Amino acid sequence: MSSPIIIGNWKMNGLTQEAKHIVSTLLTYATNHHNFAKTVVCPPFTQLQLVKEMIESSPFGLGAQDCHFEDKGAHTGDISPAMLQDIGVKYVVLGHSERRKDHQESDQLVLKKTIAAQNKGLLPVVCIGETKQERETNQQEKIVEAQLKGSLPQNFNGLVAYEPIWAIGTGLTANNDQISEMIQFIRKKLVAQYGENGKKISILYGGSVKPGNVRDIYATPELGGVLVGGVSIVPDDFIKLIDIAQ
Ligand code: PGA
Repeated sequence: MSSPIIIGNWKMNGLTQEAKHIVSTLLTYATNHHNFAKTVVCPPFTQLQLVKEMIESSPFGLGAQDCHFEDKGAHTGDISPAMLQDIGVKYVVLGHSERRKDHQESDQLVLKKTIAAQNKGLLPVVCIGETKQERETNQQEKIVEAQLKGSLPQNFNGLVAYEPIWAIGTGLTANNDQISEMIQFIRKKLVAQYGENGKKISILYGGSVKPGNVRDIYATPELGGVLVGGVSIVPDDFIKLIDIAQ
């Protein structure tokens, strides 16, 4: 893999002290290292402003974990792409399996959010992946293909994250063959959907990525990077992922 992107998804974690500690560790890393892999942090909404101020004039990128599909209006509790853009957010994770499950997000909804995010200049990181049961019954390609077709717009200007649901937060990682086969499959589908442009879309892997397995994961052909959950809030381990990618 040439130059991976590493995206840390803090999920619903990160009170102020913890957020400061994680980001300070990253900043210390950045002062001692140069030209390391592109790294993006996605704190919860409540810490976006703090993290934004801390990482200003550092190489780190800022992402959010979700957004609404409208720019403003009567949507209590929601955050719009315009609001994210307004405070300097660049990336937004969309269609994460936890949102698909906890908030019944459908491919159609993810598609609307993806379009809205792109329209505000954000880079959507669209998550797809099969359940354990779907993998056990060998339906993973069918599921992933349907999610790609359903969640990605005609003009797509973002990244795709393959996250097998059975590997998220479970300690189970898809093995190299499983990752590699699925990345190739997704690439084939993206090329079918977008032609030449489909070759340029970054495809990430997510699901129990940690320092002990990341070397093998980085070696996957065509892989554009990793989407990291649990380890992203353990800063000493997270910087190992960055270090190993050098
Ligand atoms: P995990 O989460 O690294 O804790 O498995 C990955 C994700 O949900 O993006």
